[in-house]
Amino acid sequence: MICRELLHEGTPKFRKASTKASLRAFVRPSCNFAQQLHLNIFIFFRNEPTMTTRRRFLGQSAAALAGAYWLQSSDAFAQSSSYIHFDLHSHPGMFLTKGVATNVDAAVAKTIGEMNKGKLTGAFFSLVADAPIIKVSPTGIEPNGSYGPGEAWKEYKRQLGILKEYLKSTPVTYATKASDLRTALQANKVAAYIGCEGGDFLEGKTDRLDEMYADGIRSIQLVHYHVNELGNLQTQDAQYDDGLSASGKEIVKKMNKLGMVIDVAHAAESTVKAVIDITDSPVILSHSILRVDDNRPLAKRAITADHAKLIAKNGGVIGAWPSGFSMSFDDFIDNVKRTIDVAGVDHVGLGTDMDGNFKPVINSYMQLSRWATALKTKGFTEDEVKKITGGNAERVLKKVLK
Ligand SMILES: [Zn+2]
Repeated sequence: MICRELLHEGTPKFRKASTKASLRAFVRPSCNFAQQLHLNIFIFFRNEPTMTTRRRFLGQSAAALAGAYWLQSSDAFAQSSSYIHFDLHSHPGMFLTKGVATNVDAAVAKTIGEMNKGKLTGAFFSLVADAPIIKVSPTGIEPNGSYGPGEAWKEYKRQLGILKEYLKSTPVTYATKASDLRTALQANKVAAYIGCEGGDFLEGKTDRLDEMYADGIRSIQLVHYHVNELGNLQTQDAQYDDGLSASGKEIVKKMNKLGMVIDVAHAAESTVKAVIDITDSPVILSHSILRVDDNRPLAKRAITADHAKLIAKNGGVIGAWPSGFSMSFDDFIDNVKRTIDVAGVDHVGLGTDMDGNFKPVINSYMQLSRWATALKTKGFTEDEVKKITGGNAERVLKKVLK
């Protein structure tokens, strides 16, 4: 558990920890994130329990990363320079928690170092729209409060500012065009595309997309854990009979026009259907897994075969999600194979959710070669493996990004 007492705002000790420094002092001795619940640490605190403004939230401590285990493979299979390894969903070092959590610089440096060493070609580096207004509960992540007017946008600018600084100071290449991926491959660099997990920042306002596009955002995941103005979530009751609200529909159309990748991860099947009905472009479902049974952790985040087929029909790609839903790396690979059996080899990729995942079975980019090798072991040809590791993602980027 993540210092569960910390999550209960009523805890007197927590209430007393009203400054950042004192909260850190409070957190440090009792929490070993690596051994405890690894759910994304979207812990936040506010000075007054009654305030609607979420002032701060804590992110994943580098302690969690320090405690991680590393599985490496020296296999040369994935080292070929012609390979594209693309990650549809990543939060390197939980960069967005800079200024709140400790050792974020070190955590970011570590993961970006591994991206380079592990030969990742590109990824969506994702902001998290509702980070300050969700919390960990015994059954998963759930909403916890709401943004006041304008707060979501302010939070977006804060996270974006942090990421832009890291893109300047770390060895990645800031990417906005599909061709940036090939350029990165040739230069042996990592192409960093910016994405947003959750459309909460938009507050239903279509015209904000212009500014987000100008800011370099190239993908928006319409919904996350907090109910927003756009569509239905997998993890909450449906809000919109049509799957999308009127503004959700407008936002889909406008993202098509601008050349932004629509991400339907976390969206209920009704919403995925509604998006597929009106989008002109292929979409991504950046991180999910095929349903196995409903007793697994994160089972609500799994998708049915029909749900997966919607993405295939649209020409999109599903990022296989190596979360604690899978019991082991091998169990994950079995699930990937089943997903491919359902959706086809042209419609599956990888979405690691790096550094923001629950009990991940891939927790370092040093495991990319192991990932490719495991697919080959399942009987996929080299050409098919290339599609899964990055070719399918590249196809979608080429169709969508200008
Ligand atoms: Zn995420």
